[in-house]
Parts: sequence; C-alpha cells; structure tokens
Amino acid sequence: MNGHCGVMPTPEGSTDRTDGTLHPVAAPASGTTAGMAAGVTRGKVSAEAAAAPAPAMAPATPPAPASDGLLEERRGQVHRAGQGPIDLACNRESLAGAVSQRACVFCGSRVVLYPIADALHLVHGPVGCAAYTWDIRGALSSGPELHRLSFSTDLGERDIIFGGEPKLEAALDELITRHAPKAAFVYATCIVGLIGDDIGAVCKRVAARHGIPVLPVQSEGFKGNKREGYEAACAAMFTLTGTGATDGIGPASVNILGDFNLAGELWIIRGYLERMGVQVVANITGDGRVDDLRRCHGAALNLVQCSGATMPLARMMREAYGTPTLRVSYLGIEDMADSLYNVAEHFREVCPGIVERTRDLVREEIATLMPRLRQLRRDLEGKRAAIYVGGAFKAFSLIKAFRHLGMQVALVGSQTGTDEDYRELEAICDPGTVIVDDANALELAHFVRTLDVDIFVGGVKERPIAHKLGIGFCDHNHERKIALAGFEGMYNFAREVHASATSPVWRFTPRSRFPAAARPARDVHANCPEGDGQADNPAGDEDADCPANPAGHAPHDLFTEGNATEGGAHHGRP
Ligand code: SF4
Repeated sequence: MNGHCGVMPTPEGSTDRTDGTLHPVAAPASGTTAGMAAGVTRGKVSAEAAAAPAPAMAPATPPAPASDGLLEERRGQVHRAGQGPIDLACNRESLAGAVSQRACVFCGSRVVLYPIADALHLVHGPVGCAAYTWDIRGALSSGPELHRLSFSTDLGERDIIFGGEPKLEAALDELITRHAPKAAFVYATCIVGLIGDDIGAVCKRVAARHGIPVLPVQSEGFKGNKREGYEAACAAMFTLTGTGATDGIGPASVNILGDFNLAGELWIIRGYLERMGVQVVANITGDGRVDDLRRCHGAALNLVQCSGATMPLARMMREAYGTPTLRVSYLGIEDMADSLYNVAEHFREVCPGIVERTRDLVREEIATLMPRLRQLRRDLEGKRAAIYVGGAFKAFSLIKAFRHLGMQVALVGSQTGTDEDYRELEAICDPGTVIVDDANALELAHFVRTLDVDIFVGGVKERPIAHKLGIGFCDHNHERKIALAGFEGMYNFAREVHASATSPVWRFTPRSRFPAAARPARDVHANCPEGDGQADNPAGDEDADCPANPAGHAPHDLFTEGNATEGGAHHGRP
C-alpha cells in the first residue's frame, strides 16, 4: 500500500527523537540480511563453521550510512542542476520499500473529482480509505456542498469474503434517495480490485433506477501511481461531457481545468477572465457542477493548469470535440500575466478589444502588487527555499515567484513529473539546485537540512518534515486557507513565506543547533546586481552591512534586537 495510508519511514535508528532530525540508514548489501553471517543457517551454527578459525571480528559499530541519505536504487531520480545533462528515471513505479511521498491511485482520482460540489462521492472499500476527507483537502463551493460529506461502504471481513456489491448497491440507493445528487461517483479501492467487485455493473443498475449518472471510477490504489488516478477521474468525467445543451455559449468561451478552488483561487481567475470579456463555461473541477460538465464541450478553449491532473480530459476532449488546449499557470507574476495574454491572443479575432482590456488589467494589478512585494523582499533577500509538489508544472511558477522575493531555490521536486517537465525545470533552476523525482521523507529531510533552507513549500505530507527540522513551511496544496493564485495570490504567497521564514519561533527549534560551519556557504547577492556567485557567508551568517539590506531598513521587524545582541544576521538566522 502506498499514499496517505502509508507509514512514515521510521526505521530503527533513523529518527533522533530528541532533536527531531532524521538520519539516513544504510541499506544492507543486496542479498544479505543484517545479523546473518557466514556459517549461520536458520539460527544454527554449522559444524564446519564452528570448527573453523574465528573470522576477524566485525567492527562494533555499524557501517557508516550513505552520506546523502539515498538508497542506491534511487540515485537515478536525483540530479543537481548544472552538472551535466538531466536524465531522471522518472514517471515510473515507486521503489518498493522507499515509502514514497506519492499518494495512491484512489487518492489521485479523489483529488480531481471531489470538488464537484453537487455530486455524491462514495468510496467503495474499507473505511480507512475514506479518511482523506474534505477537512484534509477542502475545496470551496459557491453553492451546494454535498462534496463536503464523506461516504464509505465500510467493507468488512464478511463483504470481502462474499463480495461487496450488495452493500454498494444498498448504499447508493440510500444516499441518492436522501441527498438527491446530480450524479454519483463510486471509487474503487485496493480491496475492491482484489475481490473483483463489478462496480460498473452496479453503477449501471442504480443509474437506471434513479435516472442520474452513476459513474464508476476505476481507481484501485495498487494499480499504479497517483497519475493513474488522474486518468481514472478524467475517464469518469469524460462520460459526462457531451450530454448537455450548449445554448448560450459564445465564441470567446473557456473551461478552466486543473484548479480545485482550495482557497477561492478559481474565483480570482474567473474574475480576471470576466474582466477580459471571456465566458467561463465549466470549472473543472473547483467549485464544479455536474450540469456544467455535461455542456463543457461547447466551450471554445480548454485552459489547463497543473500538468498531470486534468490534461487527460483535455486530450480526450480534443480528440472527441476538437477543443483546443492552452496550458496556463495562475501562480506568480509572469506566468499569470502570460496566461492572460495568451488567452487574449487566442480570442483576438472573435472578441474585439480583448488585448487592450487584458493589458490594462495586468498593468493595474502589477502596479498594486509590486510596492507591497518590495517591502517583504527586504527581509527575504538571500533566503533559501525547498519546493516539493505533486505536479512539476507548479514548481516552474514557484521558482519564478521566489526570484521576485530575492530568494534562491535550493531543492525542487515533484511526485509525478515527466522527462519533459524535468528538462524544463532544470533550464530555469540556478546551478547547484537539487532536482528530485518521487522522493521520500528521509531524502527530503536530508536535503532540506544539508542545503540549509529557510522555508519548505509543500503539502500535507511535507509539513511534518519542516516542523520537525525547525524550518518555515508554506502549504501550497491541501490545507491552505489563503488563495495563492493570481496577482493577489502572489502577494498572499509572499506574506505567508515572510511570516513563516522570519518567525522568531525558529530560534527554539533543532535547526538552531546545527553547527553554522556545516551550513553551505551562500551568496546573498545572487539575485541582485551585487551578485558575484561567490559565498558571502561561509559560516552561514550574513553581513549586517550588506547593500542588499538598505540602510535604515529594519531587517526583520519581529526580532531585530534579539539578533543584534546574539551576533545574528539580518536575514533572520537565529
Ligand atoms: S485505495 Fe489502497 S492505497 Fe489507497 S488508501 Fe485505500 S488501501 Fe490505501
């Protein structure tokens, strides 16, 4: 089993529970077992071995762990930017035993489909699979909120032996009668794949009885990685498309794919598009509606954010209806502006004035944003960030966003990046940035610690790593409550990063006990005209007189005094 039902890796001796740091553990040599030596068979010592002269004593201490915390088989999935051409062994099954940060197939499909707010979502499997509820990954709705309720068939021993179909059918009948959803999605989990329940047949019978679409989602957790879950979700949604009327859809119309409206991002984007004069037909799937999905084939263009999650649906729609696709990103300044300009360009002929309206919109938003960003940048200049996200596409925008804050990205990785994603990623990374595919908690902890990052951007599974190591964390995924998309989202992101990275709490955490000499040297001017590529702070402390810290500026308002007396630095290092 993998994904969120997996167990955090805590091999014996790997976690120092006093300071929360994680230490890599050396894997035994292939084909050997710790504690098993020549001449010892199933716990007995053979006569020959007993008679033989005693071998040289093994050292009392175990072999030194691999210094970089990587399992040998994982080395092909880590690259350092600037050190030769990138050729990551990505987009494949996770290494067994490595306890990947990836989620399972079911989780992938659930992430995509759950924001459809007027549908019933029923998880067919043990109740544990359904534990990943709206409370963990909320998606906001402007209307119905049926998606906030989690339902499970709660399969037990009897169902697994005799089959779970009767229980599924009874659950669907009861729930559809009680909640009158517009459609129902039924998710297959690992055990359903193992016992062979025919959820397609059950869905067909129930759909005929109740007169609504009841859609099987073939998302058995073990059958691949999260990416397969996206495919399963898109296949289910595709069966809805083309079943509704397309009246009232104009030539300058789009579907928004790949935003899940976790904190209201979708409403920001819709607002921009409406100001430009573009009609939004369907949100797929943040604040999503079944009826919109039914008619979304009438839109003139699919805007796809997020490289993996909804691209399969866009591909299916292109093949079936000829709907073109435009890849967009709503994160950061350049990518947000580029996305809007590209949409405007697409509709230039059919929507007079759209280019001018878009230019005015971008100009206004940037004029408001930049002065606010400059204030925060003063404290963040020279700090380092680590990024670990689901799809690599988001990482591109985050790297650019950090540059606006004067920060360096020391580590970037994703769960499901492809060859193409990683090649693009390397092209925009600074030399020396570590790029990692399908990492696990131990690797991330190792890199975050040795690269001496100030803030970790990730999701719900990365948060404990950052907290244990005593560094700032910014949730850019499941649990965020602040919209991070659009121009105002860029400001929110900068504020989050600032609040977390400069918090005085980090003075009391394990990180403050790392020896300064062990930290990598930094060029605090790397992102400004003073940058020379040379380390300014070999001991990890920055120069308080540095021109990157303008004279008269109170560097970090919260604890300037404390740092001054402790010989601290202007970048908030305790
Ligand atoms: S579907 Fe399988 S891997 Fe996914 S949560 Fe359920 S048991 Fe775990």
